[in-house]
Amino acid sequence: MLQQLTDRVWYLPHDEASDRPVLTYIEGDQLCVAVDAGASPAHVREFYTAITDQRLTVPEITILTHWHWDHSFGLSAVNGFTMASKKTNEKLRQVAQWAWTPEAMEARLRSGEEIPFCHDYILLEYRRPEWIQVRTADMTLEGEGTMDIGGVTIRCETCDSPHSRDALLVSADDVLIIGDAGYEDFYELDRQYDKGRLAAFIEKLKGRQETWLVAGHEAPLTRAAFIAQLEDVLKGL
Ligand SMILES: [Zn+2]
Ligand SMILES: [Zn+2]
Repeated sequence: MLQQLTDRVWYLPHDEASDRPVLTYIEGDQLCVAVDAGASPAHVREFYTAITDQRLTVPEITILTHWHWDHSFGLSAVNGFTMASKKTNEKLRQVAQWAWTPEAMEARLRSGEEIPFCHDYILLEYRRPEWIQVRTADMTLEGEGTMDIGGVTIRCETCDSPHSRDALLVSADDVLIIGDAGYEDFYELDRQYDKGRLAAFIEKLKGRQETWLVAGHEAPLTRAAFIAQLEDVLKGL
């Protein structure tokens, strides 16, 4: 069920069992925007049903927070235009070449191109991995950009992050949506934090003004509470 966070921002909660991330919805007077496309067409359908159940409009624009499958493999099923950072699209262009046969998936595990964590959850999400369709976004963004969708302004910023190199942060209506940007690096560092990248990201979050923060795989919390959590992690490194 869609949950309301502020006047203009709603979200479909994450699901730990499937590793599906939070999907966020921003309601403008002219256009509505989704942040992240989700793990699959089935995930998109669940999101859109939750949106229409609240008598809201299906989003016309979908923005990706980073390239990982659980946030991007729903792209083939979303409505309207899609946007991602330039780095996200470069990575998605590579992943779109991947074959989804059991043999090809096993080979990527052996080569280290794919990690067991994602491999296992992909097989949970997709009864038939052959059905996976990886798409790139229609538009790319680099640096900062703002978009007025009527009654609410969306601000996007691309940056490096402790989790991946292609992060895109989205803010609207006093909410900062960061995807997985505050989490460990699963692909490059085997689920560890790089101290320098974490410290830089904490500073970036401290420089923001939003009250609320939506991270990929947990309930929304205040930006201050999220920063406090990351500072604890940093102390332990
Ligand atoms: Zn994720
Ligand atoms: Zn991720």
